[in-house]
Amino acid sequence: MIQTLHNAGGDRSTILIIYTGGTIGMKRDEATGALVPFDFSGIYDEFPAVRRLKVDIDVHTMPTLIDSSNVRPADWCAIAEVIRDNYERYDGFVILHGTDTMSYTASALSFMLENLAKPVVFTGSQIPIGVLRTDGRENLITAIEIAGAKRDGKPIVPEVSLLFHSRLCRGNRTHKSSAEELDAFRSANYPPLAEVGVKIAYNTAAIRQVEPKAQPLRIATMLSEGVAIIKLFPGIGEYTLRAILSVEGLRGVVLETYGAGNAPTDEWFLRLMRETVERGVIVLNVTQCDNGTVEMQLYETGQRLLAAGVLSAYDMTTEAAITKLMYVLGKNLPLDESLALLRKPLRGEFTL
Ligand code: ASP
Repeated sequence: MIQTLHNAGGDRSTILIIYTGGTIGMKRDEATGALVPFDFSGIYDEFPAVRRLKVDIDVHTMPTLIDSSNVRPADWCAIAEVIRDNYERYDGFVILHGTDTMSYTASALSFMLENLAKPVVFTGSQIPIGVLRTDGRENLITAIEIAGAKRDGKPIVPEVSLLFHSRLCRGNRTHKSSAEELDAFRSANYPPLAEVGVKIAYNTAAIRQVEPKAQPLRIATMLSEGVAIIKLFPGIGEYTLRAILSVEGLRGVVLETYGAGNAPTDEWFLRLMRETVERGVIVLNVTQCDNGTVEMQLYETGQRLLAAGVLSAYDMTTEAAITKLMYVLGKNLPLDESLALLRKPLRGEFTL
C-alpha cells in the first residue's frame, strides 16, 4: 500500500521509496529498548531536512519486511511489479534493502526492468536508522536526492544503481565487500556513477544513457531456477563436482575460477566440463579475483576450458552472472539465442 505524503507539483521530482526491510529500517523502541521496524511514512517528521530537497516522497512498504538473507526471486518480482505499477506516476525510485544480498537484488532488477528510463537507486545501512551514529540517514537522503536529480528535465541516472557511503555505483557491478565498514560496497571493475562529497559529482560518461527511441518499461518475471554457483578450490573432488553437475534440472552454472579464468587441467575435470556443456548446460566462467577480467586465451589452463565450451563472463561479478543466467534462461529461448544474450552486455554488467 502506498502512503501519499506530499502534494506534488511544479518542477519538483516525485520519488517512491520502496521499503523491503533490512538494518536500515530498524529503530529502538523507547519502551522496550528492542530494535523494531521504522515506519518510513514518518520520514518527514523524523528527518525534517528531507523537506529541503526538491523532491516529494511517497512510501510503499512491502507487505512482509525481511532480513535480506531471506530474499527470494519472488521478492524481486514483487519489487519489479511495484515499480511497473507506479512507473508513470514517479520520476524515480529508492529501494531500501538489507545490505547482505543488496547486490544480488540490484543485479537481478537491472535485468528484469527492461527498457528502464528512470532512476532506481538501492540503498541500506550498516547501522540501524534509529541509532544515533547511523549511516542510514546520509544514505537515505543522498539516494532520494539522486533518484530525483534531473538535468534539462531528464533524469541524470536512468539505471539501476546502488548508493552506499560516498559512492553511487552501477547496481550490477557491486559486491558487498565488508561486514563491518560503513564503506561496505565495491565496484571493482567499473568506475562510480557519482562521488558524494560536499557536492554530488556525477560521472556522466559512465552512466548509461537511455536510447532515443526507448520502448515502454517491461518487466521480466520468469526467472530460471536450475542454476548453481561452483567455486573451485585446490583439491575439489571429482565425485562432489559430478554430483552437483548431474543434478536434475540444472541449466546453468557460474564457475568461479582462478585468476584470469583458469582451472585445473586434470583430464577428469575437463571431461566433466565438456560433458556438462554437451548436455546443454551453460557454464559461465567468473574469476574469484576481486578485480580484473577472465581471459581464457592467456594460459593453457584457461584455453582448455574454452575448448570445453565454457563461456567467459569477462569482468562480471558473481552476483551479476548468476542473476543474468536466471533472467536469460527464464526466457526459455533456444540455446544459441541464450548464449548470444550471455555473450554481450545487456545492462553494462561487463566490459568486453
Ligand atoms: N542482515 C541484514 C540484511 O541484509 C543486514 C543489513 O541490512 O545490513 O537484511
